[in-house]
Amino acid sequence: MKSPILLNGKAISEQIRNRISQELKKMDPTGSSPPTLATILVGNNPASETYVNMKVKACASVGMLSKYVRLPEETTTEQLLNEIHLLNQDPKVHGILLQHPVPHQIDERLCFDSILPEKDVDGVTTTSFGRLAMGKEAFFPCTPYGMILLLQEFGISIAGKHAVVVGRSPILGKPMAIMLTNLDATVTLCHSKTQNLPELIAQADIVVGAVGKPEFIKASWIKEGAVLLDAGYNAGNVGDIEISIAKEKASYFTPVPGGVGPMTIAVLLLQTLYSYQSKFSPVLTSH
Ligand code: NAP
Repeated sequence: MKSPILLNGKAISEQIRNRISQELKKMDPTGSSPPTLATILVGNNPASETYVNMKVKACASVGMLSKYVRLPEETTTEQLLNEIHLLNQDPKVHGILLQHPVPHQIDERLCFDSILPEKDVDGVTTTSFGRLAMGKEAFFPCTPYGMILLLQEFGISIAGKHAVVVGRSPILGKPMAIMLTNLDATVTLCHSKTQNLPELIAQADIVVGAVGKPEFIKASWIKEGAVLLDAGYNAGNVGDIEISIAKEKASYFTPVPGGVGPMTIAVLLLQTLYSYQSKFSPVLTSH
């Protein structure tokens, strides 16, 4: 049995960021008209504040501008729609990110879907989702696309493999299942009503943890040689897979932290660059 290979998202994401910086220096040598990512944060969720601050810093690190829109907890759907409309109309804004979750009184789906698809660099709109599902170019949800880029970067074959994705949220598990399907994997998408989860995972060549429950996927369920992708990020710096033991059975695995998280931000920057270049992310299909 070979030693498991660490899918070092931190290192790969730094390479992507360097490529973005270089590309921007070529396109805009004086830095006079850089791409701008607008980030909207509604309310006072401390975790969301941390995520937004990380994204603002990441923009600066590659030479992009960020426009930080802060709205109070009591913001209404109408007010948020109005802010998004202004950003949609602003030619200097190339990407719009509405930080999830928004306060409960807001219709989050309506607000996501009001973002213009060509500025939807976080890949959250129904239009982007539909285009991804149809194998058309689009902006993709950043976390699943980050995991696909990791697989591709390490030359891990996807076609014909059985992938088991645990979690079906619209920004993570469900689009991951579609991306893997488009790349010719055979996909089982699991959720809270799934029966026999351990038996399904025992058949998986690729396991994706997208549940949001610490170490929920047990090492004893994992098949020898499986590829383990853990999108989960829970208190205590643990993911959704019992990785400290499971990695011994794996061929490849993502660490938590330093695996999927940095890739998510790298994809956000990459898609903001694409928007600046007036293009989408490439079609994800192997045929
Ligand atoms: P979410 O919206 O809460 O979705 C969780 C999914 O897990 C749901 O589909 C749910 O099923 C499923 N689930 C819950 N209990 C289950 C069970 N017992 N068996 C099987 N499936 C079960 O979460 P999310 O937004 O997708 O996030 C998931 C995790 O990824 C979290 O830890 C989050 O922090 C992390 N995350 C990380 C990044 C990053 O940048 N690294 C980005 C986004 C999210 P139902 O649909 O049936 O309810």
